[in-house]
Amino acid sequence: MLITCTNLLKTYPAEGQILKAVDTVNLDIDRGDFVTILGHSGSGKTTLLSLIGGLTRPDSGTVHIDGVENWQQPDTALADLRNRKIGFIFQFASLIPTLTVVENILLPLSFAKSPKGNLGYAMHLLERVGLGGRANNLPGQLSGGQQRRVAIARSFINRPEIILADEPTGDLDEVTEDDILALFREFNQDGVTFVVVTHNGGLASTQRTPRILNMSQGVLA
Ligand code: ADP
Ligand code: MG
Repeated sequence: MLITCTNLLKTYPAEGQILKAVDTVNLDIDRGDFVTILGHSGSGKTTLLSLIGGLTRPDSGTVHIDGVENWQQPDTALADLRNRKIGFIFQFASLIPTLTVVENILLPLSFAKSPKGNLGYAMHLLERVGLGGRANNLPGQLSGGQQRRVAIARSFINRPEIILADEPTGDLDEVTEDDILALFREFNQDGVTFVVVTHNGGLASTQRTPRILNMSQGVLA
């Protein structure tokens, strides 16, 4: 098993009560899986992704990636795991405004111990998301949807084994959404494992993604 979540619990204090953002989640994901988690806003999708990716520490329960528990290793090893194995597509594009598009895509390589991408690959990815001509623009010169596509290209630069994608097609039109999903499936066929979370029922239709799980009030069904 590539990813195993066991009895994962994450709470937040809310109005004197305790909110279970992620409530006793158990989840097994094999290498090469493509999992889509569908749920309304507030159902705990973003929290679950950041638990899986080791960005948030659970109150209790465990996440094993390739047999290693996220929080049973030194911080540096966890950071290295994230840089080496995981590509994150965050809900908001989070590009550095003072770096060009291609510099943004290359940025994760500067944190990686053994970078696997390079400028040529960055340009290839930029072509693949339909922005071949925009390498030297600043993010502010692109639309929201184009910025998101840059963030998607960035997530692939270090040839990660796992992509964790939070509402990856949030502000894209349907045609662009199809292109991005086709790109995901292509990488998936090459063996990259995907966990995509969304509130978009269309994105999670069975023809488009093979394994769909529903999330509601922190509970995964
Ligand atoms: P989704 O991504 O499905 O919209 P989230 O994981 O962002 O859901 O949030 C799940 C619940 O946890 C929501 O009720 C949200 O308000 C709450 N929550 C998320 N992050 C925090 C936080 N840092 N502090 C307090 N409450 C939070
Ligand atoms: Mg969210």
